[in-house]
Amino acid sequence: MKKLTIIGNWKMNKNSQETKEFLDVFNTEYLNNKEKISDSIVFGIAAPFTNLYLFNKNDKLKSVAQNFSNFSSGAYTGEISASMLKDLNVSMVVLGHSERRQYFYETDETVNLKTHQALKEGITPIVCVGETLEEYEAGKTKEVILKQLKGSLKDVNDFSKIIIAYEPVWAIGTGKTATAEIAQDVCEFIRKNTAANVTIQYGGSVSPANIQELMNQKDIDGALVGGASLKPESFIKLLTLNK
Ligand code: PEP
Repeated sequence: MKKLTIIGNWKMNKNSQETKEFLDVFNTEYLNNKEKISDSIVFGIAAPFTNLYLFNKNDKLKSVAQNFSNFSSGAYTGEISASMLKDLNVSMVVLGHSERRQYFYETDETVNLKTHQALKEGITPIVCVGETLEEYEAGKTKEVILKQLKGSLKDVNDFSKIIIAYEPVWAIGTGKTATAEIAQDVCEFIRKNTAANVTIQYGGSVSPANIQELMNQKDIDGALVGGASLKPESFIKLLTLNK
């Protein structure tokens, strides 16, 4: 089986108690389902900063950040640096999620700065791209994706060190998944415009019911999952590809 990278994105959900409860059930369910989870699946949770320390105790489940600063240290009130994340064994960071682009004014330029900071610090950036419903309906998907790729990944030379998440904005948290054909078509376009060795995730209402079909697509190497990653039983089902 090809290598798959499946990451849950918890957004601003779960306090420390709720995180501990998730991990307790997850650890038990993981042992119960271990033989159904392929060794070629890499998995983790992008949790709020304040709870990342709780993932330290679990060697299988990677701790992933949802954002970080493009600066190394200094007078940047409210920011979190790469070295602070590395203290907590964080190995990946989600960058340019559409919610950060929409509500916190992140641009391709800031995503590009953060991508280079992550690469410099040895943290794998998961760079999100995706079109809005309006752009999708106007047939502009590939034009938008190309612009985001060019801006967010400017001067990136080694694509084997990054993950690109294709997340159509109209599919995030809406229950509307892109069909496997649409997702494959856009992910193939992303690979052609980056490099053969880049890891490409699909995200947008991925669930136990549709994960297998999506992961079977040639150019889809994993998933970035919001809602369906919040319950341990459901997250396990994503990892077993619903077996
Ligand atoms: C996401 O948060 O990146 C996401 C894809 O959310 P959902 O799976 O809930 O659509």
